[in-house]
Amino acid sequence: MRRKIVAGNWKMNTTPAEGKALIADVLAKVGEVPAGVELIVSTPFTHLIPAAEQLANSGVALAAQNCANHESGAYTGEVAPAMVAATGATYVILGHSERREYYGETDALLLEKTKLALKHNLAPIFCIGEKLEERESNIHFDVVKTQIEAVVCQLSSEELAKVVLAYEPVWAIGTGKTATSAQAQEMHAFIRSVLAAKFGKQAEEVAILYGGSCKPSNANEIFAQPDVDGGLIGGASLVAADFIAIAKSF
Ligand code: PEP
Repeated sequence: MRRKIVAGNWKMNTTPAEGKALIADVLAKVGEVPAGVELIVSTPFTHLIPAAEQLANSGVALAAQNCANHESGAYTGEVAPAMVAATGATYVILGHSERREYYGETDALLLEKTKLALKHNLAPIFCIGEKLEERESNIHFDVVKTQIEAVVCQLSSEELAKVVLAYEPVWAIGTGKTATSAQAQEMHAFIRSVLAAKFGKQAEEVAILYGGSCKPSNANEIFAQPDVDGGLIGGASLVAADFIAIAKSF
C-alpha cells in the first residue's frame, strides 16, 4: 500500500497571525481526515518555527517551500536546509514551476538542492510538470521524463525512499483548469514507468501527488486513479474547510 498524502502549498500568502489562525482551523478539523491520510502544510519561511510548535503531536507535518543549495555562508537572502530542518519542518517543496519559471531554477540547481535537503533529513516534495505549449506540441512526456531523469534518477534508492513526487501541469496551476482524471492517471503511470526504468520495483512505492486547481469538487475523481496518491494543493489549502474536504476525498 502506497502512502496517501495531501499537502497544502500556501505560497506567499498569510501574515504570521493569519497563518496561525489557518493552522488552528486545520487542527480543529483534522479528526475528520481518514486514518492513513498524511497531511502536510507548507508555510512561508517566516511562519515555520511557530507553525512547528502549533503542529507538534498533531500528526500534521510541516514543509518549507524552498531551500538553498549551499550549507551556509555568504548567500544573502537564502535559507539553508539545516536551518529549515532546525525549525521542525520535515519536508521541503522543490522544483515548483513558479521557482523554475520566475527564479530560473534549473534541473542542475534542483539536483543540488534535493541532495542537500536529503542530507539534512528534509524530505523533498519534488515537483515536475509541463507547460501548456509543451502539451500542445505533444512533448509533455519528454519534458517530464527529462525533469525526472535530471534529478530524481540521480538519487540513490535510499534517497528516493524519502522523496514524494508531485505532478503539476503548469497550465493547471492557479488557473482553475484541472487535468482530467484520465490525463492525470496517464502521466502518473508514465512517471512511475520512468522511475521503474532506474529503480525497478521501488517505483511502486513512490507517492506521486497531483497538483493543479485541485479542489473539493474534483479531488475525489482524481484521487481515485490508481497511480495518483494524493494532492499538492495551492489555493484551496488557504481555506481549512476545503483543505480538509480534499483530504477526505480518498
Ligand atoms: C501549486 O501551486 O502547487 C498548486 C497546485 O496550486 P493551485 O492548487 O492553486 O492550482
